[in-house]
Amino acid sequence: MDSMKKGWFSEFGQLWPGQTFSLECEEVLFQGKSPYQEVLAFRSKTYGNVLVLDGVIQATDRDEFAYQEMFAHLALCSHPDPKKVLVIGGGDGGILREIAKHQCVEEITICEIDQMVIDTAKKFLPEMAKGFDDPRVTLFMGDGCAYLEQKKNEYDVIIVDSSDPVDGGPAETLYAAPFYRHLKEALRPGGLVCTQAECQWIHLNIIAELIRFSRNLFSHVEYAYTTIPSYPCGQIGFLLASTGDSCKTPKRTIDESLNKYYNEEIHNASFVLPSFVRRAIYKD
Ligand code: SAM
Repeated sequence: MDSMKKGWFSEFGQLWPGQTFSLECEEVLFQGKSPYQEVLAFRSKTYGNVLVLDGVIQATDRDEFAYQEMFAHLALCSHPDPKKVLVIGGGDGGILREIAKHQCVEEITICEIDQMVIDTAKKFLPEMAKGFDDPRVTLFMGDGCAYLEQKKNEYDVIIVDSSDPVDGGPAETLYAAPFYRHLKEALRPGGLVCTQAECQWIHLNIIAELIRFSRNLFSHVEYAYTTIPSYPCGQIGFLLASTGDSCKTPKRTIDESLNKYYNEEIHNASFVLPSFVRRAIYKD
């Protein structure tokens, strides 16, 4: 499918058949093919600069905060005292930028598979990529699943900011049961993970499957979501799986003047789901 036509970028995805979201493109800034995926950056007319991987929008200047803030602060504010944090994926740096707002965090490790994503973000999405500048950040290049296999009892919080589980794509392994077992083993007592968990309008089967196998491993498995216009159906969800308490109520606060989207009320509200979603994913 030709995703750039008559000056418009259209997002055709295997995971949202029969629908697409389009943005008017003013200039293609970068186009390349890494060993893992096709990388595109373009300047849009109304959403600022846009990062696209394998034809799928990953972040836009205009609305990325709705994703990065909710992802990072839902996770970190659900832990009473996070000191060691791991990010898997997240090569645009936006999640690092948000984690860095938490002074109690001492070490932030990121395991990203694709150097081309990092380089493209540093050049064309500097407001996100500045997350790499925090002195607590250590970058490890490689596959997140292989990295985690080696880690036992190390992290308080793990955030899996991955792309979608497309057949043959680099993130496929990050949505499978063995990866969730590695996540659990890599956590310290009381630790929690927060993973990119797709959209309640079109991916109930994926979400239900993630919850099914996570429930065998964690004491609390809960789905939350944020609104974001440039993702399919304008929403994306997060799976919070905790070895300690429920994540539905924050354990700590963050200086809300630093944020554009996340606050304590929206933390609580983001776990409130429509009935059809609750039934489909929790099976209750
Ligand atoms: N959440 C955004 C979305 O759904 O549109 C995606 C953010 S993007 C930063 C996801 C990142 O995960 C990409 O940089 C990609 O290279 C990285 N990634 C994909 N598979 C990975 C793997 N197996 N190990 C580590 N990083 C991976």
